[in-house]
Amino acid sequence: MEYYVPMVMIGILAAWMLSARYQSRVNANGGCPNCHTPVPLTRKPTSARQAVWGGWTCTNCGTEMDSRGNEIEGRTA
Ligand SMILES: [Zn+2]
Repeated sequence: MEYYVPMVMIGILAAWMLSARYQSRVNANGGCPNCHTPVPLTRKPTSARQAVWGGWTCTNCGTEMDSRGNEIEGRTA
């Protein structure tokens, strides 16, 4: 079990680096697709999908977007 902890830490670090990369890409494209608010680096997942797949919810207008900054409409696909 002693190998478990470092693997989890690497996983968290990799997820954080991916998140940072996505964030800079989304902001380079203008941030929020509706109000162009830059997305924060630290995201608070508002759904299980966001926690797993990434993405942000705009702090200004509440638009939900995926990790590439595309607006997610309120449907389950
Ligand atoms: Zn917005």
